[in-house]
Amino acid sequence: MSNRDYGISEIITLEACSSCSLCADVCPAVSASGDGQLSGFYRLHQLKKLQRFRTGWLAKLFKKSKMTEAELSQFGDTVFKCTLCGNCQEVCPVGIRLKDIWLSLRQDLVHSSAYPKKVDMIGQNISESHNVFDEDNEERADWVDDMPEAPEDGLIRDQAAVVYFTGCVSAYFPMAQQIPIALSRIFTAAEVDFTLLGEEEWCCGFPLLGAGLREMTGEVIAHNVAAIREKGAHTIVFACPSCYQMWREYYPPEFAIFHFTEYVYHLIRNGRVPLQELPLTVTYHDPCDLGRGAGVYDEPRQVIRSLPGVRLVEMARNREKCACCGGGGNLEMIDKDLSAAIAGEKIAEAQATGAQAIVTACQQCVRTMTNYVKRNKIQLEVLDITQLIERALVAPED
Ligand code: SF4
Ligand code: SF4
Repeated sequence: MSNRDYGISEIITLEACSSCSLCADVCPAVSASGDGQLSGFYRLHQLKKLQRFRTGWLAKLFKKSKMTEAELSQFGDTVFKCTLCGNCQEVCPVGIRLKDIWLSLRQDLVHSSAYPKKVDMIGQNISESHNVFDEDNEERADWVDDMPEAPEDGLIRDQAAVVYFTGCVSAYFPMAQQIPIALSRIFTAAEVDFTLLGEEEWCCGFPLLGAGLREMTGEVIAHNVAAIREKGAHTIVFACPSCYQMWREYYPPEFAIFHFTEYVYHLIRNGRVPLQELPLTVTYHDPCDLGRGAGVYDEPRQVIRSLPGVRLVEMARNREKCACCGGGGNLEMIDKDLSAAIAGEKIAEAQATGAQAIVTACQQCVRTMTNYVKRNKIQLEVLDITQLIERALVAPED
């Protein structure tokens, strides 16, 4: 383990923890597993212990008290059983940037070989295939062929004002491919001048952060920036909150970037999206990277309320307090059962509202929650906000 993986402010703030354990109270991993070792509180104290034995006079005095390889590896496992939902950071009364520390800690553990080896696959796939699933990157826009009115140009245009950056999950998972299809139909109806990047879109690099491989993000960032420049675009739209977060925090500020909910809100306000009555009661799940990550809470709600006939009811925990769906932090890869148990708690909260559907604005949330309701035969529809709007779209022939 080494201190070079942490920013100086991260090391300093470790000492600010007041041991209030509020971070444990809101942690979905603790709640779903009952295991306190998955809490931010426990993790932070273990990290402090490691830091003390790593540097300074304690290291010299208590060399034998260092963590054994087995203890370190067990600690590494608990660190990766976290959805990176950021709820702990949201409630921390002394303002410790816990999510940033969790990312640095993952990197530290990878450098120390004390991590679940499954995550190696993420770096390998992105490096070799340019997507997180090791699929053929030439097939990234194949979902266009499944559109009801598939355009001849495959939505890949030489030049456009707007690039729709699809992200790996929406590009390759059949369940999630309904999202880019819906988004493209909405943009077409609103006459947005947009294009896809097709095979020139590489993974945005977000999964590399969660895998502790921050040093690998430079290559994908450089490639994607060059690909957008080639299109002459000034704006990028994302339906994936994680791609959006990655571009906001790690890419050069060269383009105007929007999450789809922000962009479509203005299209609807300007009367560009033809809508018809859709009688449906829905509840809205704030994706962690869009809500706590980017502070986008109002636009999705305003979009939902602007759909004629749609009624929005809130869950007990919403906006900053929204409970994670279980799909973040590469948790599904590390511990499928824990991810599903977290999804179960989320779905129970949605059911308590009496809504007919839970709407979100993230392909990963859609996957995690849909898998749970299907496996457990629960009568609750799971929709991305693109799909909800698509359902209210006036059909071209109307
Ligand atoms: S980021 Fe979320 S899952 Fe991870 S420790 Fe914090 S509250 Fe728990
Ligand atoms: S919420 Fe903040 S201060 Fe309280 S235990 Fe967690 S890290 Fe420490």
